[in-house]
Amino acid sequence: MLVNSRELLREYRRRGRCLPAFNIYNLETIRAALTAARQEETPVILAFGEGYLSHASFKTIAVLAAQLAEEHPLPVVLHLDHCRDPRHIQEAVEAGFTSVMYDGTGLPLEENIRQTRAVVEFARGRDVTVEGELGGMNPEDGTGGEEDLLFTDPSQARIYTAESGVDSLAVSVGNVHGVYRGEPRLDLDRLAAVYQAAEVPLVLHGCSGIPHGDIRRAAELAVAKINVNTEIAMGAAGRVSRELNAGIKRYEKLAAAAEKEMTGIMGDFLRLSK
Ligand SMILES: [Zn+2]
Repeated sequence: MLVNSRELLREYRRRGRCLPAFNIYNLETIRAALTAARQEETPVILAFGEGYLSHASFKTIAVLAAQLAEEHPLPVVLHLDHCRDPRHIQEAVEAGFTSVMYDGTGLPLEENIRQTRAVVEFARGRDVTVEGELGGMNPEDGTGGEEDLLFTDPSQARIYTAESGVDSLAVSVGNVHGVYRGEPRLDLDRLAAVYQAAEVPLVLHGCSGIPHGDIRRAAELAVAKINVNTEIAMGAAGRVSRELNAGIKRYEKLAAAAEKEMTGIMGDFLRLSK
């Protein structure tokens, strides 16, 4: 069944574990996430971003996810990732999304708080949870890199969460969208300080490529949700390439192989939640 993420993230925070959110944008990605979660016997977060609207509409994704989640024995969250346009938040919630992320990181703090609070007020009445973000990361498509990072400031986090009312907070502590150019280095002291100030479960984006031991430490300290996409998207592409090299020439076979590959990688991340 589809649920919002409030109780799940609180529970994972209490246990010092993190629940992965996987990017989904078609039937194969949704099925891969749900198959992996069924195999690992865990809940899962399905994350669809504005950037995927060229693949499918909010309504299409919501219908697919709701139908497949109905057959899933554990809770499933349908989450809107990195949304900068409040109209898209409204559209996604009306379509059936149970959780949304408002990304106002490009705005001055006061304006970010004002916009986030409006999203929270809209979402609350509809039993939808809201993730906010503070600090700066490189774009979600993995362009740019470490030079774009602006680490989250704990004192701003205190003000932002208290005044906006968000349920969870995405942070910038050395995590990068896409491929890490060097060794990923998380500032765990800052992570702990931001959590102490924010008093809501933290979210770590850009978890592809971070050693799983570091993710576990981040979860023990503060992080209840991790976002994973690059490893999965690249893993699927690599598998398709290998299948093509092996002489497979039919798309349905390539799609099935990609789904299987994604299921395996997602399973590795879901084991971090246990
Ligand atoms: Zn992100």
